[in-house]
Amino acid sequence: MPMTEVGERIKAPCSMCIRWTMHNVLSQARRSDEFFSYDYSTLSCGGCDTVSMMVVRNWLTPSRDDETRTYYPSPVSRKIPAWLAFMRLGVTSAEEEGIGDLMHEVYAAVDAKQYRLAAMGIRATLEQVMILKVGDLQTFNQKLDAFEKAGFISSIQRESMRATLDVGDAAMHRGFVPKERELAVALDVVEGVMAPIFGHYEDAKALSQRVPARK
Ligand SMILES: [Zn+2]
Repeated sequence: MPMTEVGERIKAPCSMCIRWTMHNVLSQARRSDEFFSYDYSTLSCGGCDTVSMMVVRNWLTPSRDDETRTYYPSPVSRKIPAWLAFMRLGVTSAEEEGIGDLMHEVYAAVDAKQYRLAAMGIRATLEQVMILKVGDLQTFNQKLDAFEKAGFISSIQRESMRATLDVGDAAMHRGFVPKERELAVALDVVEGVMAPIFGHYEDAKALSQRVPARK
């Protein structure tokens, strides 16, 4: 397979657009070892201009043609919420920063398709959020009860949170391998719990200061 050429347009995943888009090839270099040739291309997304790299590996043996394409950064399947970046700054507290860092690792595991690690990480994140807000109670159910009673979640969310914690528990103790779709649901749940606590609360406070009071 011939090298892509500088100026050529090819389809590639964009980590900012979170989908495959047309990319312009900016530069090219070829290296090889005793088995493979490696074509390195820097690419620029036609939609958002983000630069990434593609490595095309080919067998040097002409009879073999199973080429592999690897992209850096690896294509992400999900956009990291903006509030997570603020958590990780540690402005509010070191505990909040730690939970933010843990959640960030969950997204990295999801992008690397390490779904068991991601499920365990989601479980640990939810547990740490509960400990931060209602203290380190003995069982998960006690924590959930206190968390719901304190108004951090609704009774509907409690059920979905319980199910999400169970996914992590099964991955940890019973060899359960969650599917991509199941992980997406677990992420929806954990984001739904965390966003009002760590993201929207301050935003909403600022908003209420801007909105004229009812007469
Ligand atoms: Zn893009």
